[in-house]
Amino acid sequence: MSAAEILEPEERTRNREEIPVEDRWNVEALYPSWESWEEGMKLWGREKNEPHWPEIAPFRSQWSQSPIKLRELIELLLTIDRELTKLYTYAHLRHDEDVGNDAAKGAYSRIMSLLYSFRQETAWVEPEILQLSDDNLKQLINDPALAPYKLHLEKIVRQKPHTLSAQEEELLALCGNSLETAQKAFGALNNADLKFFPVVDSKGKERELTHGKYQLYLRDKDRKVRECAFKNLHQAFSSHENTLCELINGQIQRHLIEMRARKFSSCLDAALFPHQIDTSVYTALIQAVRKHLPSLHHYVSVRKKLMGVPELHLYDLYAPLVNDVDMGMSYPEASEQIIDSVAILGKSYQESLRKGLTSERWVDRYENIRKRSGAYSSGCYDSMPYILMNYHGSYNDVMTLTHEAGHSMHSLLSRSHQPYQYAQYSIFVAEVASTFHEELLFRHLLAQTKTIEQKAFLINQKIDDIRATLLRQTMFAEFELQLHEWAQKGVPFTPALLKDAYLKLNQEYFGNEMCVDSEVEIEWARIPHFYYNFYVYQYATGISAAHALAEQVVSGKEGAKEKYLQFLSAGCSLYPIDVLNLAGVDMRTSEPVEAAMRRFKALVDELENLLS
Ligand SMILES: [Zn+2]
Repeated sequence: MSAAEILEPEERTRNREEIPVEDRWNVEALYPSWESWEEGMKLWGREKNEPHWPEIAPFRSQWSQSPIKLRELIELLLTIDRELTKLYTYAHLRHDEDVGNDAAKGAYSRIMSLLYSFRQETAWVEPEILQLSDDNLKQLINDPALAPYKLHLEKIVRQKPHTLSAQEEELLALCGNSLETAQKAFGALNNADLKFFPVVDSKGKERELTHGKYQLYLRDKDRKVRECAFKNLHQAFSSHENTLCELINGQIQRHLIEMRARKFSSCLDAALFPHQIDTSVYTALIQAVRKHLPSLHHYVSVRKKLMGVPELHLYDLYAPLVNDVDMGMSYPEASEQIIDSVAILGKSYQESLRKGLTSERWVDRYENIRKRSGAYSSGCYDSMPYILMNYHGSYNDVMTLTHEAGHSMHSLLSRSHQPYQYAQYSIFVAEVASTFHEELLFRHLLAQTKTIEQKAFLINQKIDDIRATLLRQTMFAEFELQLHEWAQKGVPFTPALLKDAYLKLNQEYFGNEMCVDSEVEIEWARIPHFYYNFYVYQYATGISAAHALAEQVVSGKEGAKEKYLQFLSAGCSLYPIDVLNLAGVDMRTSEPVEAAMRRFKALVDELENLLS
C-alpha cells in the first residue's frame, strides 16, 4: 500500500479517544490508572514531607562505620531512584500522548520537582565518600560486601581528582541555573521568537516556513522551493548574528569555567572523562573522515551529474534523485518487514520484537491532536519499552520505527540481564542498536526490490544517511572543537571569525565541485547540538560501530551474533569502549570509521552504475 492511500489529505487528525486501544501504547501495564499512580506518589514521593526521604539522613553519620552500612545506603538510594523513575515514566508518557492534558501536565511537573529534591537530599553522598583517603577507597571498592556495586563505586571514585571540596561544590551548584542561560536563551530564540519569511515556489505560490517544514522543503522536487527555504532560513539567523555569537560564546565560557574549576586539561577532556573515553577517539574520528573526504567530493560530482545541473548547490543535497518511487507502507506491513529483517539475530530476539510491535503494544502508533511530535523510545527498569511514533506510512516512518525498535530491544535486553545499577546503557553506545536495526532493514528491503529505480532509491537513502550522520556530524565535531580551543586561548569571538571558519570547513568537506552558497556561513548559529557539550561526535562513532557490527553479523562471522547480543545485554556493566569491544569493534582505532567511509564510497559507485 502506498503512503498516499494510508493518509488521505482530507483525513483530519483524530482526538486521542478516537485512536483504537490496540494502536496505543500499553501504559496501563505500568500503572492501571492515575489513582494507582497517586498511591505510588504517596508511598515514594511523599510530597508533604520535608525532607521527603527522612530515612536517608541517618546514614550521613553511619555509612562509614562498615562496608555493610554503605551497601545499605547504596541500596536505599537505588530503590528510591527506581520508584521515582517509574513514577516519572508514567507521567511523561501520559503527558506526551496529549500535551494539552492538564492532569498529566500537573503530574509531570510534580514528579520533576521531586526528582530535583532527591538530588538535593542526596547531594552529600559522593563528596563524603570521596573524602576518604585513596587507600581506604581502594579497600572499599574491593570489599566483598560491596561486590555488586564495584563498578558503580569505581565510577564515583574516578571523579575524585576532579571533585572539589563540599563548599566549593555547593558554590558551583549555586551557579548552576545561571550557567544555563545561554542555552535557554538560544532555545527561546530558536523555538519561539525567530520568524522566517515565507517560501515562494516556482509558480509564485507562498508557503509558510517553519523548522519542521524546512526539512520537507529541502526534499522538494521544485528547486525554487529548496533554494528559497535555504536562503530565508539562514537569513533569519544572519540578522541576529551578533546575539547568536554571544550566546554560543556564553555556552563555551560555561564549559571553560567547569573545566578550569575541575582541573581538566581541556573542555574536550572534561566532557569525555565521565564516560572514560579518551580524547584520541574524538581526534581520530576527525582524521579518519578527513582522509576519506575525496569520497564525499566524488559523491558531489555524481549527484551533480545525475541531477543534470550545471551547478550543484547545498540546497540540492536532499533533493530526490529518483522520482516517483514510493517505498512507504502501512504500520502492520512495516512491523512485518522489521520482524523479518532481524531474523539473523535469532528466534528469541525476533519473538520479543514481534510481541513488542504487536500484542504487547510497546508502540503508540499514530498521531492524535496535541500528541508530542517526532519519535522516541523510552521506558524504565520496571516497564516494557515504549515507543512514541507519529506514523504516517512514509519510507522515513518505516526507518524511524525500526530505529526506535532497536533502542527498545537494547533496553529490553539490558534491563532483563542487568541489575538496576547497570541496566542503563551509556549515551556513547546509544545509537548503535538503533542504527544496526536500520542497516538490517535496509538490506532486507534491498533484497526485495523489483526495479532499478527502487534499488537506486534505497541506496540513495543510505548514502544520504551516512553523509548526514557520519560526515556532517564529524564536520560539526571539528567546528565544536575549534571553538573550544579558541576560547581556551582567549581568542575573542566575533561573527566574522566564526562565519569564515565555518564556510572554509564546508568548502573543504564538499570540495570544488560543490557551489558552497555563502549563506551557509551562519549555519552553526542554528544548530542546537552546539549547546550539548561534545555530543555530536557520538552520532558518527555510533553509525560506524553499527555498520561494522552489522557487517560481521550478516556475513556470518563466527560468534559475531552471540557477541552482539552480549553487547545488547551488557547495559553499563562495563565502560562504553569496553562494551563495544565485547561486541567486536574497537573504537580506539580508526578502522570502524574508515570501513564506514569505504562503504560510503562503494554505495556511491553502485548508485552511479545503476543510474547511468
Ligand atoms: Zn536514536
